[in-house]
Amino acid sequence: MSAQKTLPVIVVGAGPVGLLCALELARRGVAVTVIESEPSTTIDLRAGTFHPPTLEMLQASGVTDAMMAIGIQVPRWQARDREYGLIVEWDLSVLKDDTPFPFRLHLEQHRLTPILLNMLLEYSHAQVLFSHAFASLAQTADGVAALANTPQGEVRVEGSWLIGADGGRSLTRKAAGIGFDGYTWPERYSVISTTHDFAPAGYADNAYISDPEQWLAFFRMPDKGPPGLWRMTLPVQPDMTDEEVLAPAFAQNAINRAINAPASTRYPIVHQSVYNVHQRVANQFRAGRVLLAGDSAHVNNPLGGFGLNSGIHDAINLGEKLAAVVLGSASTDVLDLYERQRRTVAMEYVQNASIKNKQNLEEKDLPTRLKRFAELRDTAASPQKTREYLLMSSMINSIKRANAIT
Ligand SMILES: Cc1cc2nc3c(=O)[nH]c(=O)nc-3n(C[C@H](O)[C@H](O)[C@H](O)COP(=O)(O)OP(=O)(O)OC[C@H]3O[C@@H](n4cnc5c(N)ncnc54)[C@H](O)[C@@H]3O)c2cc1C
Repeated sequence: MSAQKTLPVIVVGAGPVGLLCALELARRGVAVTVIESEPSTTIDLRAGTFHPPTLEMLQASGVTDAMMAIGIQVPRWQARDREYGLIVEWDLSVLKDDTPFPFRLHLEQHRLTPILLNMLLEYSHAQVLFSHAFASLAQTADGVAALANTPQGEVRVEGSWLIGADGGRSLTRKAAGIGFDGYTWPERYSVISTTHDFAPAGYADNAYISDPEQWLAFFRMPDKGPPGLWRMTLPVQPDMTDEEVLAPAFAQNAINRAINAPASTRYPIVHQSVYNVHQRVANQFRAGRVLLAGDSAHVNNPLGGFGLNSGIHDAINLGEKLAAVVLGSASTDVLDLYERQRRTVAMEYVQNASIKNKQNLEEKDLPTRLKRFAELRDTAASPQKTREYLLMSSMINSIKRANAIT
């Protein structure tokens, strides 16, 4: 497809959200230039769970098929408690009339980005400039310019619009003068991967273990191929140093504690990393010709797997609307609609649900914990309540909410 003749849309950040924004524009005939500070796409152990609406949205571009070819379909996930064991096992196949993808798909974020990059580079009107670190921008009435630092010196990139998809510390958000209200949790999150297989012990490919001291979330990930790796996320107390958290003993003890295994049990540990966790939403998703998407617009704790999923929902929504503006079939008002739809959902749904999930997993009050287990079992005993619960936790309701905003 040949592109329109105006200046390209600049996308800052070749993470999953930036590359998808670029792909959605390019496949509609809009020229795009992506600038990325790193020399290539990065290896990232963060996102790994994709919800049904995300797979539905990525179908038109062919991304879903490519993800399904290497990802793990996870129709069942568990709510467990360290002391009380299995509380409820949810089966997403009850959503088979609501979505063509009644499962979660597990795939590492760093296996998604090469898929997006390769698809994007099939368009001659798309270019990706690695080792270009966005530094500042200038907006005019009919365009925007980004200044980027490169190994060869400063480069000026001219564009018609600019999408900031440069993550939680977004310099584009700062350059556009947009605030990022919210807070950072005192505790950080550790991510650990092991080749040990937890399925024989009764763990579903995705399980959340509540514990007042140290909850833990399990995900079986595809890695380079079967049998894959088991990945865990758990909180780290603020007084621990990085050195302590990244020590092998921390991983061994954390797993043993979560599954009540003897303290001497040892697991082959493949990765360990640690992340800061925040709850923040940008005050605006649009400032003139600058638009924000993904983590640059909103960040949340990862419990529920909403961060990248909602970033992908931003990219799909924004890609279609900005392409229509650039190609002249819609007024710029649709970009304000993008902000209303996606910012509302970020505030009402993603922030509330991720905070609630965290509170549930770490609840210290025993009567409150037991009451929640009773509510979960009551929900699981009713097909109607189960469907409502899964429509919410699978983000299907968040998309309906966004689409209802006009
Ligand atoms: C432990 C953990 C687990 C998670 N699990 C999940 C999950 O299961 N499901 C889920 O949906 N989400 C999850 N998330 C959240 C998810 O990882 C993020 O929402 C996702 O990475 C956001 O993608 P992005 O493209 O917006 O930003 P990023 O992935 O942060 O990408 C930003 C890109 O911009 C580049 N960049 C930064 N600054 C500049 C600059 N100045 N110039 C040019 N380029 C720049 C970066 O190098 C990077 O390539 C998890 C997060 C954590 C911490």
